[in-house]
Order: sequence, then structure tokens, then C-alpha cells
Amino acid sequence: MLSLTADSVRMQATASTKDEALLTISEILHADGLTQSDYFQGLKDRENQSSTYLGQGIAIPHGTPNSRSSVLKTGVRLVHFADGVKWNDAGDVVYLAVAIAAQSDEHLQILQSLTRALGDDIADKIRTASSADEIIDALGATSSLAIQDGLIKTDSTATSTDELYLQAVQLLKTHGMIQSLFLPTHQPTALSQAVSCVVLEESARTVIGESALAVVANQQQALAVITATDKVDRSKLSDVLDVLMDDDFANAVLTNNRKAMLNLLGVDSPSDWATASVVLANEHGLHARPATALSELAKEVSGEIKVAVDHGAYVSAKSLTRLLSLGAVKGQTLNFIAEPATDAVAHLPRLIEAVQAGLGEVVSAPSVSAGDTLADIATPSTEMIANGIKHYAVSASQGLAVGEAYIVKDERHTYPMTAQIPSEEMTKLLTAIEAVKADLKELVANAKNADIAQIFTAHIALLEDEEVIYGAKDGMDDGLSAPAAWHAFIEQLAKTQASLNNHLLAERAQDLRDIGQKVLLKLLGKTQKQAPQNPYVLIKEDLVPSDVANLDPTRVAGIITAVGGASSHSAIVARALGIPAIVGVGQGILEIGDATQVLLDGGEGWFVVEPSQTLISDCQEAQVARREQKRLAVQHAAEPAITTDGHRVEIAANLGNVADTANAVANGAEGVGLLRTELVFMSHSQVPDIDTQIADYEQVFDALDGRPLVVRVLDIGGDKALPYLPMPSEENPFLGLRGIRLLLERPEFLRSQLTALIRASRGRDLRIMFPMIGRIEEWRAARKILDEVLIEYPHDNLQVGIMLEVPSAAVMVDHFAKEVDFFSVGTNDLTQYVLAIDRGHPLLSKDADGLHPSVLRLIAQTVTAAHAHGKWVGVCGELASDPKAVPILIGLGVDELSMSGSSIALTKAQVRTINYESAKVLAKQALECESAKQVRALQGASS
Ligand code: PEP
Ligand code: MG
Repeated sequence: MLSLTADSVRMQATASTKDEALLTISEILHADGLTQSDYFQGLKDRENQSSTYLGQGIAIPHGTPNSRSSVLKTGVRLVHFADGVKWNDAGDVVYLAVAIAAQSDEHLQILQSLTRALGDDIADKIRTASSADEIIDALGATSSLAIQDGLIKTDSTATSTDELYLQAVQLLKTHGMIQSLFLPTHQPTALSQAVSCVVLEESARTVIGESALAVVANQQQALAVITATDKVDRSKLSDVLDVLMDDDFANAVLTNNRKAMLNLLGVDSPSDWATASVVLANEHGLHARPATALSELAKEVSGEIKVAVDHGAYVSAKSLTRLLSLGAVKGQTLNFIAEPATDAVAHLPRLIEAVQAGLGEVVSAPSVSAGDTLADIATPSTEMIANGIKHYAVSASQGLAVGEAYIVKDERHTYPMTAQIPSEEMTKLLTAIEAVKADLKELVANAKNADIAQIFTAHIALLEDEEVIYGAKDGMDDGLSAPAAWHAFIEQLAKTQASLNNHLLAERAQDLRDIGQKVLLKLLGKTQKQAPQNPYVLIKEDLVPSDVANLDPTRVAGIITAVGGASSHSAIVARALGIPAIVGVGQGILEIGDATQVLLDGGEGWFVVEPSQTLISDCQEAQVARREQKRLAVQHAAEPAITTDGHRVEIAANLGNVADTANAVANGAEGVGLLRTELVFMSHSQVPDIDTQIADYEQVFDALDGRPLVVRVLDIGGDKALPYLPMPSEENPFLGLRGIRLLLERPEFLRSQLTALIRASRGRDLRIMFPMIGRIEEWRAARKILDEVLIEYPHDNLQVGIMLEVPSAAVMVDHFAKEVDFFSVGTNDLTQYVLAIDRGHPLLSKDADGLHPSVLRLIAQTVTAAHAHGKWVGVCGELASDPKAVPILIGLGVDELSMSGSSIALTKAQVRTINYESAKVLAKQALECESAKQVRALQGASS
């Protein structure tokens, strides 16, 4: 067993640089027969990964796992640098290097004893120490006294002091503080009218753990039993005795006030704090690197987060040294508690996830303790899916499909975790990456549409990113095999991104997993499961971009995903491909078995497993009719959308890619109703300058050939981020620095975009709108910037409006209507804010239905106010192309509907079947309904 003793101290070492210090240390370890001379490299490599500075002028240099072969004998040497050595970029100076030569985890014991000492102010003692004894004294003088919830028992039924004593001893034994229940008899000392105390010294040879306090109380009296090692912090001990002697404590005992007792003793009671537990899976326990990651994560919030091992004492998760002092090893449960009513509570799930993910290390699947239900809550139902009946979920892409189920589940791969020669592993990885890049290039060349080509071009770029290529190198240098290092690295990278609570970054995480899987399969020489030859229904947890490439729309009849909402990535991908799809149906769908017959109606949002032949035939007949309907609609796509009684509605396209404009016009778009410029920006790897932006916007104007262009200026934040515009992570990004709020913080972005738009338009029909306007001041501030730009670049064919997606703007719409030229209702966001349902929530987003009467009432109010001032109203959220919503929106008086290009022809055709007067009646009825379900039912089963 390692211990810190005076004979392991080396005084009077000198070094002018950290490298010199490491060399001195390695020479000492070598001279003492603990390591070979090449351990120096291991020490250096470890420091390059991250500094081993602990605090209080102490560092703990130790070798990487790779250098363990250079360790001849486990040991520790304390090297004192009286003049100090600068240890890291933060300027921390080390006076004592606790150098560890260890073949396994022995150094955790050292850390544990060391870090207990670090809780006190010993920096000066260490710096000025002139003898080995002084150093050992400084390190060992402050062994703490454990006072923890589990050692305080306040509901004892003991009727005598002896019984109280036995119960206290029992508690200490259960918590591993004493060896045996057979203790020398002690006469308790009375501390107050209700409290007495026994102190068991180490010399009684019973104390095995750290010093600890147990209290057992029975409403009349309390007995405190203290076990004290020789090194117990005497001042802490006397503080505790003072508390126990105090009348307040006696009162708390007599009134059986547990909370007060805990408070007086300074113990956090998990009963008041939010709790979550996770089993530590890290092979080498909670050593310096994972502990650093954990403390960094805990520091992201201002509320306190504490952690205890099993039933041990809680320490602050923000303190690296306290975390190390836990000495937590693999398999132990980390119990976290978060300070009530602070941001720490919401942060707990992230901590649990991070520990599960290994805190930067490779871990085999850790298990979560039974009490932790957070993950369960966020996971859609795994209920078995009954055969032969309709199951409703989220409609994602219209159309009917029937086919055999083809279920693609995330596969678990087995491969060796370790390898001998890192350079060979690196070569394997580089070869696999090159092979995947070649495949991707082929996919780009054969891509069926521009969006798909763009996705894979981005994947190639990711695989060319040095950070990605060499990110796994550390793992291999630490002895991992190429697949293990690669998988761990990609998973960590993806998890970190996904955890930023940012929709776009989350999508990038999915992209990372996608390329990660491809490279892994290449490394393992595997190929993906082959899809059936017959038309099939693809069933997956969620769609990733790669699925798109493997999809042949002539063979993929439909798609069903276990998770996702109507505006989730999977839904958008399915819509872009025109494949009928339902999302968010729950995990049970993954269990129905390959080749099971499935029927789905993407428009109505239902599916049936093992449908009857009659149902299939009925649906197939309906499908033939719909195909014919679509064929006719496409034939008439260029014609206007006019109701049977002569009311015209403009139908425009939503675009995120300037190159798609011509196609949208060919599909019947009468203009662009929403150009999502943040998506245009995303196609550039850096902020596009004004000339680049002008070139992009000119493409759109040219293809529109005089048709109007409604441009939304950058809508960043919330669920979208620009890689080159790093944003601080926010607790509630949808309620944070989003849309116009960000632009007003960074007006240079807005100014240059407005300039580019006006210059690109060259007097053509330009309509600019600002996203996420909630308050009139925001609108006016944005408008002011535009007016300043207009002084230099005047424009006489310009309209200026706002996206209506924040409820406050909808409620105050009469004020806005006086000043804006138009409103475009973003029903995706308006719905999520009105109903308080995250549009991407795996469980809840199915209920974020824009046909909820609350949303419709706000749209009605908007139309009334706008029309009263001669302004127009468009709808550009997903609701605009929902067949059940179209007549209602028209009936409410909406002037323009803007949607994805693939929906335009059918929507125009639908409008031509609508009677405006009847639509008004329908809209009125909808406003009186009490739920979205009722609104949908107004029009019967089919639209
Ligand atoms: C909306 O919120 O409805 C909208 C069109 O904007 P986005 O989906 O881009 O947030
Ligand atoms: Mg929006």
C-alpha cells in the first residue's frame, strides 16, 4: 500500500522549467528503482494531455497508462522545489511534486489522502517547508471528520444510553468506519441536558476508515459517537463538540427536529435536494482526468452540486480535489445531490449522462441505479404494438404506404479494446477514413438531390477535419485499439455537442455518429444490413443522413421512426424525399419483427401492423386516387390557387438553399415566402462576406424572375447555430439569445446582411422580415438599423415585416400592425411557445399541434389587426401545407401560405376545391373548439 512518509520526500530540488522538473522527478524515480529511465516520456505525455496541477502548490505527475511498462515497482516520491516551478498556462506554481509510479490504480489512495489535506490552506506550509517532516505534517495534519446524513439517526426507539451506543456503533460499522462491533466500554460524557458523547480514538485499534461522527437520537436524548484517527483535524473536532454542546442542538433533539440537527452539523440532507445516481464505469475509477471533466461540468452552474460514493460523505462536485478525495472506483455508485431551487437541479441529468459516457474515457455500458428515472421520462413508450389496429403518431410526410417491415436497430459491435502498437492502429484508422471518404464522394456524385449531396459533402469535410482525424490518437497512444479509440472519441464528441441543448449542434452530433459508424464498420470489415428487394417500410429509432443515401424511393414505401416530432430532422428528411412517414411512434415499433406487414398513412399519421387484406385494398384504392390527384395537381401547378368562389391565396415556397429556387418555381411557387438565411449561411464554412451574400441572394432573385422574395434575416440561436458564431450554452436556448435578440446584440451581422439583400435585389420585389420579434422595442430597433442602411442604399420596392412566432407579439398585434408591412406566422415556434411544448421533444412534440384553438385564435387576431391596417398575413410554418389546416387558415383570412416545394402543387389543387365562404364557417367553428383533436375532427377522417 502506498503511503506518504518522510522517507519518500526529496528536499531541495531545483528546476527552471516544468520539463526540467519532470526530468528531475523521473531521475529520482529511476535512481530509487521504481521506474526505468524512459518513464520521463510517460510523465511528459501525461502532462501534455492535461496538467496534473492539484492546487495548493502541489502537482501529481504520473505516467500515461502506456508508460506503465516502465514501472518496476509501485511507489511515490515527494519532490520539493523550494523556488517553485511554473506548471501550466494558468501560471500555477508547484512547490511539491507528488510523483507516482504505479502499475494500476494504487495512486488513487495517494490522491485520496492527499486531497483530504488540500481542503485546508496548506500552500504556505508546503512552500516554506524546510524538512521532510514538515511536509508530511502539512499534508497529514488535516484529516477530515466525516459527518454525513447516513450517520445521523433521529428515529431511534432505544430506551437507554447503552442501546443508543449500540445503534451508533452499528451505524459506524455499516458505513465502514470501524472494524468490529466489540468496542471497549466507554462512559459517555454529558455535553448538555440532552446530548452525550463518546470519543473512540484510533489507539483503541477499532477505527479503520476516516474519522467520523455518528449521532443516534430518540426524542429525549442523543448520543454522539466520534471515531478519531491520530490525524483527525482537531479544530474541526472541537467545532463539532461545540455544536453538540449547544442548547440549539439539545432543543433539536428534544423536538425531534432532524432538519435542524443536520443544519447545525452542516450536513446536506438529500431529502431536500434533488438526487440522481449513477454507477461509475471508468476502469481506473474517478482519477484525475475524469474528475477534471466532472468538476468542469459541475462548475457550469451556480447552484451547488455534491456527490458521495455509495453512502459516504458528500463533497462538492465542483472541486477537483474533493472529487479525487472520494477515491471512487469502478462499480461504485456516485450519488449526486443538487441544491434546491437553483440551476443545479436541471443540470443533474447532464452530469449523469457525462458520467455514463465515461467523462472522456472509454467505458463499457454503465448501469444506472434503479432510483434514476430521468432517462425513462424522456424516452418514448416501449409498449408492445398491437396488430390490426390503427396507431396514431406524428404525421411527418404525406402518402400511403404498405410493405414489409425492415427494422434497422443500432448494432453493437465487438472488437478488441486494446492493441500493442499505436502507430499501426493509427494507420488502420487513416485507411478506414480514406475508404469512407471515397464512398461518400461516390454518394455525392450519385446524389438524387442537392440537399443530400450537401449532407455528404459536409461529412467529407468532417472526415478531413484534423481534429476528427487525430482526435482518436490519444486513445490509441493510451493503448486502445483503433475501433475502440475511434468509437469512444466520436461518441464523446457527439455527446458533447448534443448536450449543448442546441438543435443544430444536436444534428451535427447525429452526423458525427453517422460518419463514426461508417468508419467503425470499415475498421471491422463489416457492411450494413441489406434491405429487402420488395418495397419495404423502413423502421428506425430515428433517421440519420446516411439512411437517406441508402434509400431508394422506389423501394422504400414508407418510413416509421420511434422518436422525433413533425419538425424534427427525420420528418424533414422524409418530406424532402417525398416518402410517406410517421415519426415519434415509440420504441415498441422496433420490436415488431422484420418482414411483418405494415400499412401507414403519413398524412393522417397512423399505421397498422399486420393490417387486414380489406384495409390494404381500401387504402390502395385510395392511394391510386391520390396518385392521380397528385398527377393532375402537378399538371396545374403553374396555375393560381383560387377558391371555387373566386378568392385567391398566394402559395409560396420555403427555401433554405438558394439553388432550389428554380425548382420551387417549376413546382408552382408564386414567390419565396420564407428564405431561411441562416441555412444559406450554414452552407459556408465561414461568415460569408457581403459579396458572397450578394451572389447568393442574386441567384434567388434571378430564378424568381420578378416574383416576390420574402427573406428572413438570420434566425440563429435556440435550435440553430452557426459553427463560426460560437454561442454560450444556455439553460433554455429557445427562450434565450435567439433570432432578433441575437442580431441586436451583434448588429454588425444584421447591418451587413441587410446591405447585401438590398444591393442584391437591385430594386426587385424584396420583403424583409425579422425573426422572433416579441416586443415592439425589438421591432423598432431592427427597423432603425434597416433605415440607416436605406439611407445609403435606398429601395422603393421594399416591404418590411415580422415573423409572428412569439405569443407576446400576437397578443399585441394591433400595435405592430400600425408599423409593419406584413406578418408571416411561424406556426412551428408559435405553437411551441403557446403550448409550452418543445417542438423537438421526443415524447411531447406530437402534441405541439398548430391546429390547437389557442394558436388559431392568435392567427385570427393577427389577420383582423393586419387587415384593419391594410397589411397582409402569411403562414410559413409546417401548418401551411397541412391539408386539415389549409381550409381553416384560408377561412381565417390568411393571404399567403408558404411551404416546402413538394407540397405546393397539391396545396394549390386543394385550394381550388375550397369554398371561401364555407371555409370561413369552418374557421369559426375551429376557433370555438376546445382541443386540436376536435379541430381536426371537424373535417372528418380524410381531408
Ligand atoms: C416557424 O417557426 O414556424 C418557422 C417557419 O421558422 P423555423 O421553423 O425556421 O423556426
Ligand atoms: Mg421559427
